[in-house]
Amino acid sequence: MFGEIFDRELRRGSVFLDPSKLSPDYLPERLPCREEEFGRLVSLFRPMLEGGMPCRVLITGRVGVGKTALSRRFGLEAEGRGKGVRLSHLYLNCRGRTPYSLLLEAVRKFLPGWPERGVGRGELLSLLVEHLRHHGLHLLLILDEVDYLVLRHGPDLLYSLSRTGETASRISLLSISRDRRFLAELDEPTRATFLGHHLELPPYTREQLEEILRARREEAFRRGALPDESLALAAEMASRRGDARMGIELLLRAGMLADARGSRTVLPEHLREARASLYPELRREVLSELSPHELLLLLAAARGLRKAGSLTTGELRRAYEVVCEEHGEKPRHHSVMLEHLRRLEALGILEVEPLSLHPRGQTQRISLEVAPAGELEKEVERLLSERRG
Ligand code: ADP
Ligand code: MG
Repeated sequence: MFGEIFDRELRRGSVFLDPSKLSPDYLPERLPCREEEFGRLVSLFRPMLEGGMPCRVLITGRVGVGKTALSRRFGLEAEGRGKGVRLSHLYLNCRGRTPYSLLLEAVRKFLPGWPERGVGRGELLSLLVEHLRHHGLHLLLILDEVDYLVLRHGPDLLYSLSRTGETASRISLLSISRDRRFLAELDEPTRATFLGHHLELPPYTREQLEEILRARREEAFRRGALPDESLALAAEMASRRGDARMGIELLLRAGMLADARGSRTVLPEHLREARASLYPELRREVLSELSPHELLLLLAAARGLRKAGSLTTGELRRAYEVVCEEHGEKPRHHSVMLEHLRRLEALGILEVEPLSLHPRGQTQRISLEVAPAGELEKEVERLLSERRG
């Protein structure tokens, strides 16, 4: 019985040629609309490429602007292009990792199977550097989401990598972060050497997103299965955030909907449905369960986050007080506000993480990944005015 179901379902046509080309892990050969930034990276890393001099560059930009894709491409292309230097590169994402596990992975790139335990962090780093020195190698280390590392574990690793003798001369750093706030956690000398140069990637325009999605269409969809009209709509939907990831995810979801409905092409309506499914946290059922002050707090967060990548608790407090005044409400005590904040986090609407390195520190960093702040703001305002009226 199941065999027949497999056969029947898989015999049906699909709009896709290769849906894996729409997966978040896929790294395309070409990155349209980032040629200029790629050129900037080449020139910033020129001392490394031409003489094995250590270079340090920080890339920042909002979600989906191509930070990861650009850096991984650069690492791959740079390897083997060194003049008078043997370049190797390693991409590491710091989210949820400890300095030790990052160093262990770096060591294992060169010494596969190196045991999990046995030596301390400092020895691991010496081992790595000794290997590089012995083989005349220079390592381009790409540290993605480096802000997570610094905010959770402090600046020690960056200090060791960029300020200590042989290590600093054998390793170049390409670091990636959504914004520059974590730099405040670094001491002045580390910041000065670590920072080196800075490259900010701007959000994509609608036209750029259309170009990026068109290139992806060639690889992922059967010819004719994704009409121009639908492609343009996906670009339009993603352009409010300038976010290529959202555009690509919309194409994947809409294509799957088209297949599920037995449609030979991806229709605008499939995209609208895909769009609605992208932000389940924004669903009215979820928001309508919030208490009035939770809504006011969320409104304050959404407003602040429209202008910044993240907010501190103090910034949120001030925005909350302003919103309360507008709505003729008395702000709740700070500790109550923090409870509301925890609820919004538990519901998956806001992201909250400790900002201060002190274990009992009060400062937190509040951010929003599930939806554009502008849309959240509108939705919350609509709910508040419904309740009032
Ligand atoms: P970020 O790291 O800034 O959040 P990513 O590099 O992960 O963004 O990009 C998000 C998605 O969009 C990835 O699937 C990536 O391959 C794709 N992408 C981003 N920029 C481009 C581009 N210029 N050309 C093609 N694909 C891109
Ligand atoms: Mg990324």
